[in-house]
Amino acid sequence: MTTRATITASQLRTIARGYVAEGSVRGSCGHAHRTIRGAFDCAAKDQRAVKRGNPGGGSYSDREVARADGMAMSEDEIREWQRVNDSRP
Ligand SMILES: [Zn+2]
Repeated sequence: MTTRATITASQLRTIARGYVAEGSVRGSCGHAHRTIRGAFDCAAKDQRAVKRGNPGGGSYSDREVARADGMAMSEDEIREWQRVNDSRP
């Protein structure tokens, strides 16, 4: 069986450029994550790295998942982000 997914041009651009973990203080991770989950995990890793470098300190990473093209996330993307967020400790 063949399933043909129909996607919009804007979705295609997002898939092509993907997602980044980005914050105004920490900047962008510089990756092109294909999925929100990938960018989410990348942000979490940065969070841990900052904590390790400053144990007991108040510093943290402000990186959050963002679209690489700089556009606001769609409702679907926000829902996906919430799903990922809920499934992580
Ligand atoms: Zn990354």
